[in-house]
Amino acid sequence: MTNDELWQAVLAQVQFNVSRANFATWFRNTEILSKDKGEVLISVENSFSKEWLGNKYALLILKILRSLDKETKAIEFKVAPKKASGVSAVKETTRGEEEKEREEGPQLPFQEFTLDIKTNLNPRYTFDNFVVGGFNELAHAAAQAVSENPGLAYNPLFIYGGVGLGKTHLLQATGNRIIELSPKKKIKYAPSERFLSSIVEAIRNHNIGELKKSFREVDILIIDDIQFFAGKEKSQEEFFHIFNFLYQAQKQIILSSDRPPKAIPSLEQRLRSRFEGGMIADIGVPDFETRLAILKAKCEEKNIELDPKVMEYIVSAVKNNIREIEGALNRLIVFQKINNKAPNPEVAKKLLESLITGPKRMTNFRKIVQTVSNLYDLTEKDLLSTARRKEIVKPRQIAMYLLREELKESYPTIGRRFGGKDHTTVIYAWEKIARELKSNDNLLTELDLIRQRLYSEF
Ligand code: ADP
Ligand code: MG
Repeated sequence: MTNDELWQAVLAQVQFNVSRANFATWFRNTEILSKDKGEVLISVENSFSKEWLGNKYALLILKILRSLDKETKAIEFKVAPKKASGVSAVKETTRGEEEKEREEGPQLPFQEFTLDIKTNLNPRYTFDNFVVGGFNELAHAAAQAVSENPGLAYNPLFIYGGVGLGKTHLLQATGNRIIELSPKKKIKYAPSERFLSSIVEAIRNHNIGELKKSFREVDILIIDDIQFFAGKEKSQEEFFHIFNFLYQAQKQIILSSDRPPKAIPSLEQRLRSRFEGGMIADIGVPDFETRLAILKAKCEEKNIELDPKVMEYIVSAVKNNIREIEGALNRLIVFQKINNKAPNPEVAKKLLESLITGPKRMTNFRKIVQTVSNLYDLTEKDLLSTARRKEIVKPRQIAMYLLREELKESYPTIGRRFGGKDHTTVIYAWEKIARELKSNDNLLTELDLIRQRLYSEF
């Protein structure tokens, strides 16, 4: 049997085990490149397919191969793109990069970042990839000054602005820069929800003293989205003491919120005046040119070239939220990775419709359940069951997340749909996926893939 015949036989069997959409997406243009001492090298179109096949189908392929050829011991995937017909979407690379690419396959536009356990900072957020314009100039300058002179420039630094406009990015970039300049400094970054729940837990377990001590040891304390302090009196009080301690020791405190201190309801007066005692800088909304500049920077970062018309379409449709501009871009990248060609303006418009016009677009419970079970090769029955197997739990959490995000269903309703699960389980699932999406770009890609299948026919 030639390698070709062997692979055709494998594919014939794979087809029985995976959904049609998955077969078309992941197995198209695969082949056996070589077979040596039982090691089979399989070529795939791009690094995203490589990852997906490796994670999800390696075992299946290995099993089938073994049943056809007893010698088979291991399989490996290699990115060996077929010479693309039509326009190549990937940017021209320099010679050195080209060689590297041939060896390692094209770089994934999505990179995986790991959060630093000690600081909780995400290294993806830097000043280098932060675009500055009139809308965020002041906040940026203040953050830079603080990163160069922590504790001395402005204390506290309080940054406020709307959702998706770069507060978290700026806070984390400041933290990352401080570490870069002085690696010995102790930094702690905490979203306020996490900060608040650790206080509540400490009070419950009677070790608030210890918790406070751990906060007092830091040189830089960064708390994100402190509007959630509103109404949490006991926690505000504990925070007040931590704040004062650090402040008096000239340790830097950096805070963010979606509104200025005076607009946070039931924020204790003494905390408010502490916040107002430092530097308050707001982030506004970027204008058209700046949005375009941001999008261009993101394209460069992800090494993708978009039709200028497509770029203009994106930034004229998405006005108030940089995260959504990124979401639009990511969706186009997924299209490109899977189809090996850049979307033209028409396709782009179709792909982005649901993002841009909001969740009014047609999808429903059935479609979500179908699409999710399809992508992960599960039966709908499994997905809706209460089975706890690992390969089902994650897709189920994703389905719950989507029902909430796309259909705005209530948590109890979603719980009932999944065999009568408690609403707290649904909330847990939603939070888990939402949190993971912030650091795991592969999951982001998977969700985009699902959304594409939900909203378009290809
Ligand atoms: P917020 O915390 O204000 O809701 P984020 O900091 O999470 O917003 O920003 C949302 C996304 O937009 C992030 O991925 C971030 O990297 C990106 N972003 C925001 N502002 C900028 C900017 N000025 N330049 C480049 N990317 C930005
Ligand atoms: Mg944020």
